[in-house]
Amino acid sequence: MILKGFEELKMFLVKPKNIVIIGHRNPDGDAVGSTLALKHYLGKKGHHCTVVMPNDYPNFLHWLPGSETAYRFDGQNSQSQKAIKNSDLIFLLDFNALHRVGSDMQNTLEKYPNNFAMIDHHQQPDDVKYMYSDVTICSTCQMVYQFIEMNTDLDLIDADIATCLYTGIMTDTGSFRFRSTTSKTHRVIADLIDKGAVNHRIHNNVYDANSYNRLLLLGQALSNLQILPSYKTAYITLTDEEKKRFDFQKGDTEGVVNYALSLKGIIFAAIFIEDKEQKIIKISFRSKGNFSVNQFSRNHFGGGGHDNAAGGKSNESIEKTITNFTSLLSEYKADLETSYEE
Ligand code: 5GP
Ligand code: MN
Repeated sequence: MILKGFEELKMFLVKPKNIVIIGHRNPDGDAVGSTLALKHYLGKKGHHCTVVMPNDYPNFLHWLPGSETAYRFDGQNSQSQKAIKNSDLIFLLDFNALHRVGSDMQNTLEKYPNNFAMIDHHQQPDDVKYMYSDVTICSTCQMVYQFIEMNTDLDLIDADIATCLYTGIMTDTGSFRFRSTTSKTHRVIADLIDKGAVNHRIHNNVYDANSYNRLLLLGQALSNLQILPSYKTAYITLTDEEKKRFDFQKGDTEGVVNYALSLKGIIFAAIFIEDKEQKIIKISFRSKGNFSVNQFSRNHFGGGGHDNAAGGKSNESIEKTITNFTSLLSEYKADLETSYEE
C-alpha cells in the first residue's frame, strides 16, 4: 500500500477548491462509480467538482446518480478543457498511468500545472504528488469508501454515494466472487446498504439490461470458444463483422471473457476483439490463482492491470494475434499447470 501526501492533501482541501475527477478510457462500473461518488462526497465538503471521462461508457451505467453531469473529453472537449484549466487539483481514479486516458486527453494532462491525486488499485502506478494505491483492494470504489473513512466522514455517505460505490464494488468483484473480495468488502457493502444502496435494483440495472442483440452476440462469442486443455487455457474471438451483425454497442462484450474462465479446469482465459476503427485487436485476459495476467500482458501485449484481470492490445490481424498467443503458451506451461489448486 502507498499512502503519500494525504495529510498535506487534507490541509489543501480545508478551503473550497475547484476539482476535476477523471477515470480511465472506456470507463467501467468501478471508474464511473468511484468518480461520481467522490464528486458527491467532495461536493458535500464544499468543493466544486466536475467529472471528466475520456469517452462515453455503456448504457447500463448511465442511470448512476450524477451521471448526467459528467463530461466526455472526446465529445464535450471545450467544456472539459475549461474545467481542467480552471481546476486547482485533479483526482485520477481507477487508473495507474496517464496514458490510460488516451492520447488526446493525456496531452492535456501532461501540460497540467497543478497537482494530481491518485486513488487506484492497479499495479505499478506512476508517481504523482498525492497517492493512495493499494493493489490488494478489490476496487477503487472500496478505496474511495476507505478514503472517506480515513477522513472520519462516513456519516456523509448518503444514498447517492452509497449507490455509486456499491456499483463499482459489485462490478469489479464479479458480484462479490473474485479473490479480491474480503470480509472488509462485505462490511463495506453492508454499510452501503444501510446508507441507502438498494442492492437488488443496482444488480437489475447493471445486469438485467441486455438487448436481444447483445445475447445473440454472446451466443456467437460462445460458439467461437476454443479450448487448449494442455495449457488449462481457453479463448474467445469476435471479428468486426460479427460485432456489426449483432449491432454491437459499447459494453456488449463486457464480462464475456469470464465464460471462458468458467470452464472446469481452465485457469487462463482471453478474449480477442477486432476493432477495425482503431485498427487494433483489443484483448482481455483473466486467470485464477498465481498466474499473473498483468505480467503476461505487459510482456507480450503492451497492457497490464491486475494479477487476475488485465487488458492488452495487438496491432496484427486477429489470425496472427491468435497464432502469436498460442505459440507463447508453451513458455508458460509449468506456471499454468501449477497456478491453481481446485
Ligand atoms: P479489461 O480486460 O476489462 O479491459 O481490463 C481488465 C483490467 O485491466 C481493468 O482493471 C483495466 O483497468 C486494466 N487494464 C486494461 N487494459 C489495460 C492496459 O492497457 N494497461 C493497464 N495498466 N491496465 C489495463
Ligand atoms: Mn477498478
